[in-house]
Amino acid sequence: MRKAVIAGNWKMHMTCAETRVFAATFRPLIADSPDDREVVIAPPFTSIPTLCRHLEGAGVKFAGQNVHWEDQGAYTGMISAPMLLEHGVSYAIVGHSEPRKYYSESDEQINLRARNAQRHGLIPILCVGESLDQRESNETERVIHRQIEQGLEDVDPTQVVVAYEPIWAIGTGKTCAAEEANRICGLIRGWVGNPGVTVQYGGSVNPATIDDLMAQSDIDGVLVGGASLDPVSFARIVNYGR
Ligand code: 13P
Repeated sequence: MRKAVIAGNWKMHMTCAETRVFAATFRPLIADSPDDREVVIAPPFTSIPTLCRHLEGAGVKFAGQNVHWEDQGAYTGMISAPMLLEHGVSYAIVGHSEPRKYYSESDEQINLRARNAQRHGLIPILCVGESLDQRESNETERVIHRQIEQGLEDVDPTQVVVAYEPIWAIGTGKTCAAEEANRICGLIRGWVGNPGVTVQYGGSVNPATIDDLMAQSDIDGVLVGGASLDPVSFARIVNYGR
């Protein structure tokens, strides 16, 4: 039985003051959520201590939105695995399409990030997914297969989560059809080579689409952007199927 991982990626949203308000509303709403699912939130680095403090004992885990491949050094603007661990973080997102696009992150760098995260005991959440152009020219499978192969080279496939995030579905309100997302998540599981790996879907997930997505056999969780900023919406997603 694979564990469901319901994760919120706050991206560049939420000051500490906003984080406190979120936590106060969110906490009671997930108090009775079933224990067959893990809840993870990836806040901006500056809000991690506030969120951890205000959700202490609520059963929520925390993720960095990225992590560097070195432990320290002259890398302005970056964050290292030991820095995240000091705050009780257990996951790190790597390979999200936004840093791939805006900061030209390569599969090789993403692989180094994942390897260093694992070396420290952080679980990488590797994001993969095709652009609209790639989908329309029938390159979806080739693109994702390559991202998996390069991103997970020398990475322990039993200590990783993979998120299928089609770029055209991110922040657009266009959720990938559940059956198609399921098909790609199944292919990803085969390429990872570990039948037990948790594979998430991400891209415009909201309370109206979560039940259908989670009912799919190969979708084990979701990575939620916009809808994770609202505590009521994110709690509904966490409480899927109820
Ligand atoms: P949206 O849910 O806002 O489409 O974002 C998805 C995402 O990129 C999560 O990492």
